Amino acid sequence: MELGIKGKTALVCASSKGLGRGCAEALAEAGVSLVLNARGAEALEQTADHIRTTYGVDVTCVAADITDEAGRARVLEAAGDVDILVTNAGGPPPGMWSDWERDDFIKALDANMLTPIALIKALVPGMMERGWGRVVNITSQSVKAPIAVLGLSNSARAGLTGYVAGTSRQVAGKGVTINNLLPGIHDTDRATALDGGIMKQQGITREVARAQREATIPADRYGTAAEFGAACAFLCSTHAGFIVGQNLLLDGGGTNFTI
Ligand code: NAP
Repeated sequence: MELGIKGKTALVCASSKGLGRGCAEALAEAGVSLVLNARGAEALEQTADHIRTTYGVDVTCVAADITDEAGRARVLEAAGDVDILVTNAGGPPPGMWSDWERDDFIKALDANMLTPIALIKALVPGMMERGWGRVVNITSQSVKAPIAVLGLSNSARAGLTGYVAGTSRQVAGKGVTINNLLPGIHDTDRATALDGGIMKQQGITREVARAQREATIPADRYGTAAEFGAACAFLCSTHAGFIVGQNLLLDGGGTNFTI
């Protein structure tokens, strides 16, 4: 399907690897020029080179921590007036509800709620003035069904989800849509790290740990960054202008509910 966004520009945050990279590649395949971001410069440059060579689009890289105010300012300066914003950052660490203190919550809220909100506030006014824009926030399946050990993530992402629900309806009339993509388990470094945690905790092999987690997913496998990216590119396409304030779960059926 022709997505109708060739020649547009996108800022894709936290995109040297994993789901952010999947989104960046799918947008590049649709002819979108990119501003990419991650903290580590080396992997970021490698990803940018791959995308330039494979898809022939312009790619600008900004190595910065997107959750840090100064880093975010550098990213926004390089991005200028983008048409598409994909927000993303690493998720908070797992833990126990009784151990988390105020500072832990502030860190999680900064990274997974207040950072996407700051990016939306910086870029959406320009999109509204120009009469077209797309925002996709990478959140988590934990928004629909909490993962107890990820309480910091559950809390911060619920806050962002509430903000998007109202704000998306305030900006839709100007041609700007804001939606969230909710990943279930996907085959990225983060999933490998979580497999490793189970492996150690239960004294089993990595293969058995992965098989255990795959068995919780009706599709019987982890998702891929490429299929996640394709969903993102569709939400950013000209065809998706009537999709407003939605939370699209990509989890292979892992979250068991009816609607
Ligand atoms: P990943 O494979 O570990 O990739 C994370 C990417 O983000 C890397 O490019 C990393 O590069 C960059 N990054 C991390 N923190 C950053 C920061 N503060 N500033 C700028 N860039 C940053 O992770 P992923 O699996 O794609 O996960 C992406 C998001 O989806 C996370 O919030 C995660 O919690 C959520 N999620 C993932 C899954 C899953 O199964 N994969 C499931 C549910 C939710 P640098 O390290 O160089 O900065």
